[in-house]
Amino acid sequence: MTGDKIKKTEPQKKTIKTIKINVDKCNGCRACEMICSAFHAAPKYSSNNPARSRIRIIREPLRDLYVPVYAGEYTVSECAGRDKYTIDGKEYDECSFCRASCPSRDEFKEPDSGLPLKCDMCEGEEEPLCVKWCMHDALILEERQEDAEDTDSRKEEQEDLEIGLESLADKFGMDKILDVVARMNAKD
Ligand code: SF4
Ligand code: SF4
Repeated sequence: MTGDKIKKTEPQKKTIKTIKINVDKCNGCRACEMICSAFHAAPKYSSNNPARSRIRIIREPLRDLYVPVYAGEYTVSECAGRDKYTIDGKEYDECSFCRASCPSRDEFKEPDSGLPLKCDMCEGEEEPLCVKWCMHDALILEERQEDAEDTDSRKEEQEDLEIGLESLADKFGMDKILDVVARMNAKD
């Protein structure tokens, strides 16, 4: 082994983006919902419907409660046990902080198709648009570097595909979906 040098490969890095939420600074203006839904409209910016937004504000003005929540993972069934939080004397409802696209509520579902919505950090943009449009600093972007597993992004894509298919199957039934795929194939 004399003179042999073992080359050490540097681990690949990935950037983790986090949006830090300060509920005390949010005044419920909903600018973040508007820009998110406009950015994700097809074509881009052609419409603005907060129901299509990947961020929703849980608003209760009479109790001075405003909680910005980002769309996270899809779940087929609602959870049986839920939590209530009291923070600084304010009591928050069950599910207030939950990010799931779940059958128990209307948030984070595409209004026409019922497909689950998930925040994609405004892919392709320099900065998440909800952060940019929040004039009250309730949303702050934080970034850090972590070692990346090669398979991470492929695994994520596969998971997203499975989630999309699962929710379509829940809504229309697997037979119908297979039928449509067969017809699409036949057209090619
Ligand atoms: S833009 Fe900012 S202040 Fe307005 S609702 Fe969204 S998070 Fe709250
Ligand atoms: S980061 Fe982009 S996709 Fe995610 S909630 Fe904000 S505006 Fe919507």
